[in-house]
Amino acid sequence: MTDAVPAAAPQTVPVDIPYSFARGHGVVIAPDGEGWLATLREGSDPAVLIEVKRYLAAPLRVVTASIADFDRLLSDHYAVDASAAAMAGSLDGGDIDLIASGMPSAEDLLDSADDAPAIRLINAIIAEAVRQGVSDIHIEPYESGLVVRMRADGVLREHLRMPPHVAPVVVSRIKVMARLDIAERRVPQDGRIALTLAGKAIDVRVSTLPSRAGERVVMRILDKDTAGIDFDVLGLSGEADRILREALAEPNGIILVTGPTGSGKTTTLYAALKQLNDGQRNILTVEDPVEYAVEGVGQTQVNAKVGLDFAAGLRAILRQDPDVVMIGEIRDRETADIAVQASLTGHLVLSTVHTNDAVGAITRLKDLKVEPFLLASTLRAVLAQRLVRKLCPTCREPVQADNGIAAMLGLDIGTVIWRPKGCDECGHTGFKGRIGVFEAIKVDETVRRYIYAGGDESMIAKHAFLKAPTLASAARAMVAKGITTPEEAIRIARREDVDA
Ligand SMILES: [Zn+2]
Repeated sequence: MTDAVPAAAPQTVPVDIPYSFARGHGVVIAPDGEGWLATLREGSDPAVLIEVKRYLAAPLRVVTASIADFDRLLSDHYAVDASAAAMAGSLDGGDIDLIASGMPSAEDLLDSADDAPAIRLINAIIAEAVRQGVSDIHIEPYESGLVVRMRADGVLREHLRMPPHVAPVVVSRIKVMARLDIAERRVPQDGRIALTLAGKAIDVRVSTLPSRAGERVVMRILDKDTAGIDFDVLGLSGEADRILREALAEPNGIILVTGPTGSGKTTTLYAALKQLNDGQRNILTVEDPVEYAVEGVGQTQVNAKVGLDFAAGLRAILRQDPDVVMIGEIRDRETADIAVQASLTGHLVLSTVHTNDAVGAITRLKDLKVEPFLLASTLRAVLAQRLVRKLCPTCREPVQADNGIAAMLGLDIGTVIWRPKGCDECGHTGFKGRIGVFEAIKVDETVRRYIYAGGDESMIAKHAFLKAPTLASAARAMVAKGITTPEEAIRIARREDVDA
């Protein structure tokens, strides 16, 4: 992890003016034939051009731009530059604290001539996060300081705390790298940064949110190369595994995975695609965003800016002679309708819906006005999924379940369960990695009749879970096996706590 280069070819600018100068004086320069083109922000003092001309010692052509146009140009121009700077800067990711302590202490860092320390810091944070398998980086400004927290294995932990004056420069630098409007601090924005770290393509989704003490930033790290997901590591077993495999063996139909954000739905869909990806099927996806690159699968990313939403993307890929289509999420009636039509015309359709449990997905599709008879004839299987933290096998400790735990989990009092302790292996957290917990509904003759007749959820659930485990019972089984803790299992069992 010693270098980072932009995924796009870097634009070669032999000479450039520092970002802070460009922003402060409202001027951006770019090569222009033999000389240079200076774009001056509307309302800026043209006297700055004298300074720029002296600096460049070459012919200078000048145009002016509106404030909005200028800000866009500034972001675009320096986004490339920032990534290039990352390439030049040391990026061992090793000593964030050292880099953080080297941040200039000037009251307004934006006016400092050199923002390399901020770029180095941001790159080091991203590199460190990738190395540790972090999914999200939170940059949170408070009156007392700038806090950097990272989420790994679903748990958020503080990583770094810096003086408050560092916040604006770090945040605006991230915004430049993500090509956001740096002048706009009152509305939420989202963008992305594409990086290559040690030859690995890393996509960082950036979102900002105005808060009391400045803009908060969350960076989600999408490691595009982590496509080697197999069913075995998902935690899919027994009935749920059999139901999914059977549905995948069908030539057509709809297979849904449900669960809240961060429950691993996408990972399950990728594992399913991998299973189907035998070189004899045309597999196409529409995703938001493309989280993993899968060799042999045509992946398209939704792009709201050009009107490419899930529905439009799905319509387009259906014209590309697919056998299997995967839609990131069904969240509107149009997408639901096209998914049903695709299934009826002989395609296998995989998607997710945002509901708490498997039976809720059926209700959700009915709410989206899918006709019960169409739903009954196209839906093959619904999986609901959660992730629980896995106990560190090195240091977990056996204890006997007391009254309360036993009652909550339906175990006998005195049953051996396991507790987290913490050791060097698990970074003293007691946990290591996560595993999926599943429930699955197979749409058999009986369930089909219930759906067709508009039957209520409880009847479907009652029939479906006669033999197959529910999320709660699957989680209990993991506690009994010492895979996870009662607390993790209870979190899943208490569905009212899970936001849909
Ligand atoms: Zn341990």
